[in-house]
Amino acid sequence: MSKYEVVIIGGGPAGLTAGLYTSRAGLKTLLIERGIFGGQIVNASKVDNYPGFPEGISGFDLASLMQEQAVKYGLETVNATVTAIKQGGNYSVITADGSFEAEAVIIAAGSEYRKLGVLGEEELVGRGVSYCATCDGFLFRDQNVAVVGGGDTAITDALELSAHASKVYIIHRRDQFRAGQTLQQKALAQPKLEPIWDTVVDEIIGDNKVNCLNLRNVKTNKITKLEVAGVFVAIGFEPNSRCFADIVELDEAGLIKADALMATSVPGIFAVGDIRKNSPRQVASAVGDGATAALSAFKYLRERV
Ligand code: NAP
Repeated sequence: MSKYEVVIIGGGPAGLTAGLYTSRAGLKTLLIERGIFGGQIVNASKVDNYPGFPEGISGFDLASLMQEQAVKYGLETVNATVTAIKQGGNYSVITADGSFEAEAVIIAAGSEYRKLGVLGEEELVGRGVSYCATCDGFLFRDQNVAVVGGGDTAITDALELSAHASKVYIIHRRDQFRAGQTLQQKALAQPKLEPIWDTVVDEIIGDNKVNCLNLRNVKTNKITKLEVAGVFVAIGFEPNSRCFADIVELDEAGLIKADALMATSVPGIFAVGDIRKNSPRQVASAVGDGATAALSAFKYLRERV
């Protein structure tokens, strides 16, 4: 089993920053990522609230720069899916392709798209049901689409889709968006966007591809049909914490409890970014978490010997 001083699980901004800091501090560090490095930001066409980029930067470019910088200072990376962390002197980080021994572990595994859980959703993924407007929006040129949700992601997605689609309905379960004021104002000023308030999707209908939604008004229970070629689900994220439930303490939503130094309930295991309870879920805060956890891991390893 390969041995590292620090193993980081997850290659988004939080994990990559932790890796940059531990590697620069001379700690032998491995970062394990199951998919694309960069996490959720790779889906963002433009990140314009990350300091240092006054004109904004694409999420993919930002992630690539973060990875390049961390690797330059010695961070090792591997593509694998972590299934568990086992304790016994040091930690064993278990993946489907083998295990890695770690003196300290930083969990930066992020979160994944929440599903609606309605009829037709699973069957029609990739055939009109999407969770990524940046990835799939161009497929709906001059067609009617719907976005479900009322948060920053839903409104950002709707605005992005308005560049391609002829009409974008925003289906929200309340009569007020959760998204920030600036985004709301932009959305309400875009004539292609039309909010449908107090409404949920009961079913997504289509033989081979989406052609219609069954909508239910939550106040009147009235069911209506909405003809759309695509539906973008943007109702938040679920933490990727299931495989850590046996080792660190989680809250009721599955987020890992960690203190201001990113320390979890287990000495030597730290949690950062979107998987951490009370994370503001911003790239800038994820980066701050990563740096803090790296410094905490360094101190933990120093005091351990
Ligand atoms: P979010 O803020 O949790 O919003 C989720 C939205 O989906 C809410 O409007 C919620 O309704 C709705 N919803 C949740 N479950 C639903 C269900 N089962 N059926 C129907 N609707 C449901 O998630 P998010 O928009 O993905 O944002 C996540 C975080 O990332 C936030 O902190 C956000 O600020 C940040 N973010 C920032 C930017 C940016 O440009 N800076 C862009 C994207 C995301 P209710 O409002 O009724 O709860």
